[in-house]
Amino acid sequence: MKRLIDILRDCHELSPDGYRALLTMSDPDDIQYLMEQAREVAQQQFGRGIYLRGLVELSNVCRNDCLYCGIRRSNRHVTRYTLTREEVLNSCDQGYKIGFRTFVLQGGEWGEERSEWIADLILDIRQGWPDCAITLSLGEHPRDTYALWREAGADRYLLRHETHNPRLYSLLHPHEMTIQHRLQCLDWLKELGYQVGAGIMVGSPFQTIKSIVEDINYLIGFKPHMIGIGPFIPQHDTPFANFPAGQVDMTARLYAIMRLALPTALIPSTTAMATLSPDGRLRGILTGANVVMPNLSPQENRSNYALYDNKASFGSESAQGIMKLEEELSSIGYHIDWSRGDHPQQ
Ligand code: SAH
Repeated sequence: MKRLIDILRDCHELSPDGYRALLTMSDPDDIQYLMEQAREVAQQQFGRGIYLRGLVELSNVCRNDCLYCGIRRSNRHVTRYTLTREEVLNSCDQGYKIGFRTFVLQGGEWGEERSEWIADLILDIRQGWPDCAITLSLGEHPRDTYALWREAGADRYLLRHETHNPRLYSLLHPHEMTIQHRLQCLDWLKELGYQVGAGIMVGSPFQTIKSIVEDINYLIGFKPHMIGIGPFIPQHDTPFANFPAGQVDMTARLYAIMRLALPTALIPSTTAMATLSPDGRLRGILTGANVVMPNLSPQENRSNYALYDNKASFGSESAQGIMKLEEELSSIGYHIDWSRGDHPQQ
């Protein structure tokens, strides 16, 4: 097994059987070795600095109906909100003063009639904080819309592919959504010069080891600048309310595999990791993740951005908790890297 891990570290690729072996191995020594190698590669690339991204949850209004997501259109139990321009700029202002140099605007998917409003917002942020990176995570849109936002000043775009397997994709999404279109969007974003993030949920209903292997292969082929991976967590008002949550261990194992496969990728230790386990965030970092995304949204809106149950947004999950985050990181020998944190090859 260790030989297999060495091959992945040195050649950045394995056969499907190789990935399957790494995903299913159970010897604690082997698992430990995988984690150590991933940690070492992350440290070679980024030292012991962890980049921060300030997450601004723009709106929970969504035209989509993804079966796993708490802000899906058919959930009538969620109070819908959209931040005003002033609220977004206020969040950026607070974040900048703390030291954030990346803002992530994330939200439900809107119709194209509001794309101009978003473009104006991007222009405002670009003007107000010219030294900051602007990341968008606003779902699927026509190429023209992505181009408009890029011209307005957006630098990065997060769009998890969720799963590369067409059958599984159709079990997780309404029938009008297709993996082909998702991948098309990711290709457009890359062509337009965004730093692009793809990724998956781990332990989503109906997921198999085989489908995760397909995801690893897709990610290695696509070479995203950023890789967003987090455990699935049920949300009580969705059709998946009664499915079990994904595992922190398996998610950490995937961080390790992706770190060895794509050494320069920016990999956040996601909020869902912190939600499932008090040390989830740190475990992600110790297995090769190098980014944390604290919440900069106004306090009063956070509970309504309910992608899943008990979503962490306080403690070190918030900008106010940055001191605590610094302490946690230093307890494992890491520190915050306050720079913009672009992809090394950008
Ligand atoms: N509307 C945007 C942003 C979605 S929220 C988009 O479509 O990209 C960001 C990510 O949260 C999603 O890509 C999904 O992978 C994750 N997510 C949604 N519901 C979740 C759940 N129940 N458990 C864990 N992660 C979830």
